[in-house]
Amino acid sequence: MVDWVVGVDLGGTKTEVGLIGPDNQIRVRQRFPTEDRLGPVSIVERIAASIEKLQQQLPGRVTAVGVCTPGPVDHLQGQLLDPPNIPGLHHLPLAARLQERLRVPVCVDHDAKATGLGEFHYGAGRGEQSMVYIIVGTGVGLAILADGQIYRGQHNAAGEFGHTTLDRWGERCSCGSRGCVETFLSGPWLARRYAAAQSGENPVLEMNPGVDGQQIALLAQQGDPLAVRILEDAGEALGIAVASLAMLLDIDCYVVGGAVARCGELLLAPARRTVPHHSFRSVGSRVRILQNQLDTDGALLGCAWLARQLLAD
Ligand SMILES: [Zn+2]
Repeated sequence: MVDWVVGVDLGGTKTEVGLIGPDNQIRVRQRFPTEDRLGPVSIVERIAASIEKLQQQLPGRVTAVGVCTPGPVDHLQGQLLDPPNIPGLHHLPLAARLQERLRVPVCVDHDAKATGLGEFHYGAGRGEQSMVYIIVGTGVGLAILADGQIYRGQHNAAGEFGHTTLDRWGERCSCGSRGCVETFLSGPWLARRYAAAQSGENPVLEMNPGVDGQQIALLAQQGDPLAVRILEDAGEALGIAVASLAMLLDIDCYVVGGAVARCGELLLAPARRTVPHHSFRSVGSRVRILQNQLDTDGALLGCAWLARQLLAD
């Protein structure tokens, strides 16, 4: 009889459930639309039903469940707070509801932190003492793993990296400030910068007026010179930001994931080049900026790791 744990990545549009074996491999998985407008009872039931269905395909039993969601989340109470892109599930005590339904311990945490834990234990950060995980997608966030522990801050608000200022004369950000990291790096901002810079003759943009960050990454991979330049600027901004983090934290390893980071070296190479110009030589020479290794599986594996901690307590 082997014991399994479950990872659940509850996102704004889709939810993924994975059963993870003692060898930390995701053995079976299921994806379904989150449809938060159906309300809390529905999502709890659909997650529980998915776990029960997947469990039938495996020997052994499920012993704990880890869930991650976009923030803000109260990890101590296992409750969602008011994540803007899941309005139908605000203030849902998800851990308690799932625990009642499944009769196993359940924890809930922030998705960037869970993904950071996944990369730290099973991905690009394996074997590191400390690591920072930076997610570059619709927004920009990070998880600090100092000596293997998540650094949460006094109010569990640490990691709002996207809204730290890189240029005080920069573009006006949605948060009210100017020149935030997000205005240089996030998918929507890359798309905005691309649209502003291009002449209006680009056929791809004419076909897809709602071009997003992932498409900019794709265009750059195909050699589109404007997209390459925009990603290079973004990479340099990332390098400056990482240099500041390294000076502050004295952590060497920075793992970058998220939709925009799928373009890999087009973003990371300029970041690496820029770090030494904005840090002490002794600090900058130790910094390593790495591509994530687990893609979206990082979240499920991080949730599984958190679930195993419930059993260890
Ligand atoms: Zn901002």
